Amino acid sequence: MDGMNEVGNLFGSGKMFLPQVVKSARVMKQAVAHLIPYIEDGKSGGASSKGKILMATVRGDVHDIGKNIVGVVLQCNNYDIVDLGVMVPAEKILKAAIEEDVDIIGLSGLITPSLEEMVHVASEMERLGIEKPLLIGGATTSKAHTAVKISPCFGQDAVAYVPDASKAVGIASRLLSEEFKPTLRKELDEEYEKIRIRNRNRSPKSNTLSYQEAAENRQIIDWRGYVPPKPTFTGTKTLTDFPLKDLIPYIDWTPFFAAWELAGKYPTIFEDDKIGESARHLYADAQEMLGQIIDNNLLCANAVVSFWPANSDGDDILVYTDETRTGTKTKLHHLRQQMDKPNGQSNFCLSDYIAPIATGIGDYLGGFVVTTGLGAEQLAAKYEKEKDDYSAIMVKALADRLAEAFAEKLHELVRLDYWGYSANEALNGEDLIKERYQGIRPAPGYPACPDHTEKETLFSLLNATAETKVSLTEHFAMTPAASVSGFYFSHPEARYFGIGKIDRDQVSAYAERKGIPVEEVERWLSPILKYA
Ligand code: SAH
Repeated sequence: MDGMNEVGNLFGSGKMFLPQVVKSARVMKQAVAHLIPYIEDGKSGGASSKGKILMATVRGDVHDIGKNIVGVVLQCNNYDIVDLGVMVPAEKILKAAIEEDVDIIGLSGLITPSLEEMVHVASEMERLGIEKPLLIGGATTSKAHTAVKISPCFGQDAVAYVPDASKAVGIASRLLSEEFKPTLRKELDEEYEKIRIRNRNRSPKSNTLSYQEAAENRQIIDWRGYVPPKPTFTGTKTLTDFPLKDLIPYIDWTPFFAAWELAGKYPTIFEDDKIGESARHLYADAQEMLGQIIDNNLLCANAVVSFWPANSDGDDILVYTDETRTGTKTKLHHLRQQMDKPNGQSNFCLSDYIAPIATGIGDYLGGFVVTTGLGAEQLAAKYEKEKDDYSAIMVKALADRLAEAFAEKLHELVRLDYWGYSANEALNGEDLIKERYQGIRPAPGYPACPDHTEKETLFSLLNATAETKVSLTEHFAMTPAASVSGFYFSHPEARYFGIGKIDRDQVSAYAERKGIPVEEVERWLSPILKYA
């Protein structure tokens, strides 16, 4: 497949961009599939493989766009790919690696619990003496995490963080070259050691407040005279098979281009000297695919939304069974920033945006789950079977965009109608992207509420799996992948923020509030622990 090799080279040298590469791979692969019966060795179109690479999204995680893109790019460079798919447990990865005698193991993940899972895979490789290089990639991963947490667990072979598809080929080829591998390993060792030293020398204790001090420095909201807006309903409302075409105006296209590794803001990206043309072609293909999806109803959009009478109780939110506010249905647990902040700034916690129980004010909290991913997996699988990776990846990237658009649309319905506190709001698409509205919809697992396990409570409050067909994996990823969930806060002062790092005192208080062992909290919150 010399043609593929050429594409790989053009991509590597920055003369071709990712969408074209993946699109060319389609032509090549289909041609090869057609020719295979006539080719004697029946392998990879005759060109000898440069090596075999296993790719897997780790246990509990479902996101695979990045993994699939890297796989296609590596194939374009004559690597054989053994793709194990998503939610792959460590045992299965390692068994396949040995049975298939792969040369490299690539792990991918999107949600923070995958970081710990990757540490687990690396430790298992060490324990079992598996001498194969490990590639680490995906949205939640980072060079710092690879250096500080993964690399120290595995000394049998190299561990390399791969920031994007354009870097994958360079790293793979050096790892598989007897000549260049020793230098790469040395470079990685030195670079990661530097990061580890920097990491150890940072984190002076003095920058952290005690949990109690942080709580005392909470954001003071003046509740006197505050009348919480009353939702038009409590209990759940389900939207089934919501019209996809109504979501199109709500799509934020910038992250779509980012998924295809074209960096730039929509729509000015089209004028970019370097990537403008590529962006225009990609967008045109996206429009065509969207048209097909809508005309043929290929994806199904479901949502569930609910509002509950609620009050805050310290850093927890009490959700009452009904308007009498006498029985507590459940408690949602939130974390509080613990960093020592300059200039009298507060230590934020989402619970502060709900009226405290002591105020006697009858406040409300909302919650939602949306999906546009029902049907995406099947549609992508159909394209993969036709060796059309470009369309398969396009379907998933568009489903993700539609899910975010649905979250945006539903939030607008909430503000204008269901909760109705901004009935006169008039915002355009750009205003929505810039979040120029009252209230927020923080998503569990994201910076203001980084604990993914709270999704279990949210889903059970909403009866979300029955209402929307979205379920949670063992690590609390939503499946189908093109789904979004979150809480609704209506208070005008509610803002997004990041919890940052938290200390032992908060972790043990949090474990007690949730009624689970400290070690379990530490496992889920490992990426935000100050002390680990
Ligand atoms: N227009 C973007 C919106 C996604 S990012 C897109 O289409 O991709 C914005 C969403 O991420 C928010 O609506 C919220 O649900 C979540 N989010 C952003 N910042 C957050 C934070 N600090 N904490 C929790 N959730 C956050």
